[in-house]
Amino acid sequence: MAGAALGAAQHLLASTPPPRPSFPVTDSHVHLSLDLSIEQALALGKERQVQIGILEHPGPGFPINTDADLGQYIVRLRKYPVRVGLQPVYAGWSKSFSKSLLDELDYILMDALTLPKPDGGWWEIWQINTFVDDEEEFMARYMKFIEQVLTTEPIDVFGWPTFLPVPIARLYTHLWTRRRVDRIIDLARARKIAIEINEVAHVPDESFITRAKRAGLKFTFGTDSRNQNAAHFYYCYQMAEKCRLTEADMFVPKKK
Ligand SMILES: [Zn+2]
Repeated sequence: MAGAALGAAQHLLASTPPPRPSFPVTDSHVHLSLDLSIEQALALGKERQVQIGILEHPGPGFPINTDADLGQYIVRLRKYPVRVGLQPVYAGWSKSFSKSLLDELDYILMDALTLPKPDGGWWEIWQINTFVDDEEEFMARYMKFIEQVLTTEPIDVFGWPTFLPVPIARLYTHLWTRRRVDRIIDLARARKIAIEINEVAHVPDESFITRAKRAGLKFTFGTDSRNQNAAHFYYCYQMAEKCRLTEADMFVPKKK
């Protein structure tokens, strides 16, 4: 009987959501969509006591392709109490925009999940049907692209860090060796690029965050949501607690 009660108590304990951090929280990775208007995003943020950061993709197939598009996007969102950012997908994207206009954004977040293919085209490794035959070969190619993003792209935040495609996701601890983790941390530190703690993918892991914090890197929280999941945090709060993140560890957009 006591054992059963204890078991139930432990279950209750395990189900307790992690506490909100004591510092102001921002969801820096919210996409507006047909299911999420700016008003809805703001309402969710208010309800969950989370500031909202809006991202839009530039480039082919997306709505922002010219300085005029980007200017309109910024002007439209500046009417609201949100942070305004951009999430480029394709390497080399910044050539389409003038630097002065990009500087008006609060931040630029980019991930390394859309790898250029040698024969042209792109490999979207976040897709569920991503095939990985040889994991070491994959990691070599992935690291090369991560290095390219972190050394050449004009970005403020590295999104989805250490995400692995579905077939090799369970090898996370094995594949993210100390050497690979330190390489990412070193490159991010060299250009003061912040690390996104990604709510939807639960990356990076506690060990990565602890090492990055020790190296002085800053962090953002992001849901990468397009719906009512905006501003919903569980993993991010859990990591904030476990890694003892404080306000000083959080990314602050550059002053305009
Ligand atoms: Zn996104």
